[in-house]
Amino acid sequence: MCKHLLQNNNCEIYSQRPFICRIDEVYNKVFCKHMSKEEYFQKNVDACNVLQKKAGINSKHRVQLLGETAGHNKRGSYEC
Ligand code: SF4
Repeated sequence: MCKHLLQNNNCEIYSQRPFICRIDEVYNKVFCKHMSKEEYFQKNVDACNVLQKKAGINSKHRVQLLGETAGHNKRGSYEC
């Protein structure tokens, strides 16, 4: 569990969070050449849920994608 995660599930350093936590930036700079944004988001969701299970977090907190990622789900939609 991250030391910056508050009890209300907000990040206490959100505006200064590290690069790895900025998933849109990480996608645009690293993964956009390798997969669609939708695939990337799904992989993030899957990893988050695995970590939640391993940490024994109640299943009501599992993450799921709600739909298309604001129309930016095609590979190459972003500058890489
Ligand atoms: S966004 Fe990053 S720094 Fe903030 S709580 Fe989550 S893992 Fe921690």
